[in-house]
Amino acid sequence: PAGSSSFEYEAEVHKMLDIVVNSLYTNKDVFLRELISNASDALDKIRFMSVTKPELLDTKKELEVRIEYDDEAKTLTIRDSGIGMTKDDLIKNLGTVARSGTTNFVKALGEGAADVSMIGMFGVGFYSTFLVADRVTVASKNNDDETQHIWESLNGEASFHVGPDPRGNTLGRGTEITLHLKEDAEEYLSPYKLKEMIRHYSEFVTHPVFLREVKTIQVPKEKEETAESDEEKKDDIDDIEDVDEIEEEEEKEPEMEEVTTYEYEHINTDPAIWARDKDEITDEEYQEFWKVVSKEGGDAADWSHFNAEGNINFKSILYLPNEIPFALAQGRPDELRPGLRLYVRKVLISDEFDLMPRYLNFIKGVVDSDDLPLNVNRETLQESKIIKIIKKKLVRKAIETIRNLANKKIEEDEPEEAEVDADGNPVVKDKPAKVHPYIQWYKKFGLSLKMGCIDDSANRDKLQKLLRFKSSKTKGEDEYVSLQEYVDRMKDWQKDIYVFPGENMKTLEESSFMDIFKEKDIEVLYLTEAIDEFWLGHSREFDGKKYRDITKEGITFSDEDEDLAKRRNKVYTDKFKPLTKFLKKLFGSNVMKVSISKRLGKAPAIVSASEYGQSANMDRLQRAQAY
Ligand code: ADP
Ligand code: MG
Repeated sequence: PAGSSSFEYEAEVHKMLDIVVNSLYTNKDVFLRELISNASDALDKIRFMSVTKPELLDTKKELEVRIEYDDEAKTLTIRDSGIGMTKDDLIKNLGTVARSGTTNFVKALGEGAADVSMIGMFGVGFYSTFLVADRVTVASKNNDDETQHIWESLNGEASFHVGPDPRGNTLGRGTEITLHLKEDAEEYLSPYKLKEMIRHYSEFVTHPVFLREVKTIQVPKEKEETAESDEEKKDDIDDIEDVDEIEEEEEKEPEMEEVTTYEYEHINTDPAIWARDKDEITDEEYQEFWKVVSKEGGDAADWSHFNAEGNINFKSILYLPNEIPFALAQGRPDELRPGLRLYVRKVLISDEFDLMPRYLNFIKGVVDSDDLPLNVNRETLQESKIIKIIKKKLVRKAIETIRNLANKKIEEDEPEEAEVDADGNPVVKDKPAKVHPYIQWYKKFGLSLKMGCIDDSANRDKLQKLLRFKSSKTKGEDEYVSLQEYVDRMKDWQKDIYVFPGENMKTLEESSFMDIFKEKDIEVLYLTEAIDEFWLGHSREFDGKKYRDITKEGITFSDEDEDLAKRRNKVYTDKFKPLTKFLKKLFGSNVMKVSISKRLGKAPAIVSASEYGQSANMDRLQRAQAY
């Protein structure tokens, strides 16, 4: 434009532009994410400043983003009423001052460590506009500059141009970016495509984002007015003799014509739910947001919404899914992608940021912190101390969320009016007992908690409390016992937690190892999952009580006089010496020893593992894995 001056792009910026524009990267949609995020940043800035100086908003009251397309001019325009840029800002921010991320981005692209879609993380998101545009025009008005200026650059040019906007101050305040779309980017002129993209990228932007849509409406056609028309009308009426004819004339539908108008549609009507007061959010709204976060159709099992305050502040909603993710169901937990979206000041940084340990990757939700920098790359961010602190708190909260589900009171159904049969006797109906939602959830996700007992020593105690077991005293499909319940109903003299790892419930229940426990009415936990022996090996004890594998030697019961037991054992050992000697000779090196035992119940003999040796079940698992 007239009166504009040209400026050279800073060398690194030019190099980066070159690489981005010529990359074979196909998903160009990211440009809109970057522009919406810049608009949102600019709005955040002026909003923040106006807290102490409300008059700053006098230049334009509404804080909003408006997006328009013109399919004849082949342009797409994104306009915000944010802080805007002075002439100086335009020159520095959009070209002459290299940002620290520029070089990193070029390097990462070169090494294949980053792709174009990550441009925003390197602080050069604006330039993604050249993925789709031949020419980019930025008009901007900042309160500190009396004049509205225009920045303009052609794709591939080594320079850009800045000058006063010939239209004058059209914005009041803010920035208007016009993209002259490349021929192969004309798909962005479709209202459907645009609406879908805007919905996606602005869903949780707290400022309203509007899309201008073209509407054709029917309006009554205006009669062509000519000088003599009134005269003609009068003549017409004079001609009409018949009154009916006049009425008919009046009833006639007016002739219609199509007129093109515009209408702005507010796209992101449901912004940042996590930033709202949780008392004002209904369960339905949480479930709706869950659908956005999870891209799943069903409901979440439970959630928690909290504000972490302290040195590091963040807001978060964590969801427990109802459905087990595919990778987990397939027994491949390492393939499960992280489920948390990370926002910094409501700008989406990543929708699968690594904020949870592997075993909790099934947790989905959002984390939004004002304390994170927006302009560092993901890897640097991932390693930052702030993220480490956030992670630690999130794990604690995630475990708490699971605990809350476990402790949830379930409402009993209203007792129904007792039905009576013909003789007046009450009819007993078989009503299935209500299954606690945690049990339903645990059946799918228990394995992950056991993984946690292996991986996360810091939270092992808390995780063990969340485990549930089948035991020699639980009945039916849905009755489970927790370790706390087990401990609470242990015999007075009982010191250890008895566990029985094995292949399946039936073999465990019928095993001779169980005889003495049944006889003495001692509860035994049945462990039938392959992972059981591994987490047991890591956990070793709960509430100061050791896990005791009942298939191993050294099981004693201190429910009787120790002296008496010892003496009796000696008598038996002596008495059966010829037999044990014979058996040891018979089995040779296949057994470590043959001894007299008190734990046999009805069985004449049992093969048990040594206390610190490998259990028979472990042996079975390893054999199974070997093939
Ligand atoms: P980043 O947003 O990470 O800073 P960008 O390349 O997206 O990097 O933008 C570069 C700079 O240009 C921004 O930091 C900001 O100063 C300025 N800018 C871009 N878009 C706008 C806008 N809509 N309003 C005001 N300033 C903007
Ligand atoms: Mg940006």
